[in-house]
Amino acid sequence: MLILFEQPAIAQNANFQSLPPWGYQGATKPEKWGDLSKNYRTCKKGIQQSPINIDQPLAPKFRKPKLEYHNIPLKFLNTGNTIQINANSGNKLVIDNDTFELVQLHFHNPSEHQIKGKSFPMEAHFVHKNQEGKLLVLGVFIQSGQENRALQPFWKQIPTASTKEQKNEQVSLKLTDLIPENKQNYQYIGSLTTPPCTEGVQWVLLAEPIELSQQQISQFNQIFPVNARPIQALNQQLLLQ
Ligand SMILES: [Zn+2]
Repeated sequence: MLILFEQPAIAQNANFQSLPPWGYQGATKPEKWGDLSKNYRTCKKGIQQSPINIDQPLAPKFRKPKLEYHNIPLKFLNTGNTIQINANSGNKLVIDNDTFELVQLHFHNPSEHQIKGKSFPMEAHFVHKNQEGKLLVLGVFIQSGQENRALQPFWKQIPTASTKEQKNEQVSLKLTDLIPENKQNYQYIGSLTTPPCTEGVQWVLLAEPIELSQQQISQFNQIFPVNARPIQALNQQLLLQ
């Protein structure tokens, strides 16, 4: 049961209704984002853009995030640029005495960030917001390995074409099974990796990847052959060490 929209990336967010569509290939590819709309100018003019290649030491141990994640009912959509799962309230990330609430998670192929020049097959982004509206994205690298069983009931029904939000109350997703045991991480202040490329986003990139089976990765790749913004130049991204 798929409900199709012509411009799902726009329809999903009322604030962006007048903004032009963007993508990863052709005339709307990442190199063109900054020219598509003046609202996307930060994509071109920004000075702390993401993603970046991380060539820094891990953040110290005391800066590990504390995750209070639960099982969430499935609310999901194909935005035209990724598969996104919308979270219900009550899933929290606490770091440095600041509490962020999970808003949504989504996936990129291949990984957007690199560690010492190395990419991963995929990267999951857990997008959080605190009470002041500050954004924090928890990045989880995905490598090929064991099938991810928590994800599989959802993965079997991911929409291959653009949709608005769909619900499946019968299936819940155990968020903690999408997070590695080891919470050692890299941290920096950067931006959203999609238009409007808003800056001041706190990034927490977990060093240990999770695994999806090659079949699960291939299934995503067939829907989105590439949906990763290229590495951005290092300017004033603040690496937190
Ligand atoms: Zn993302």
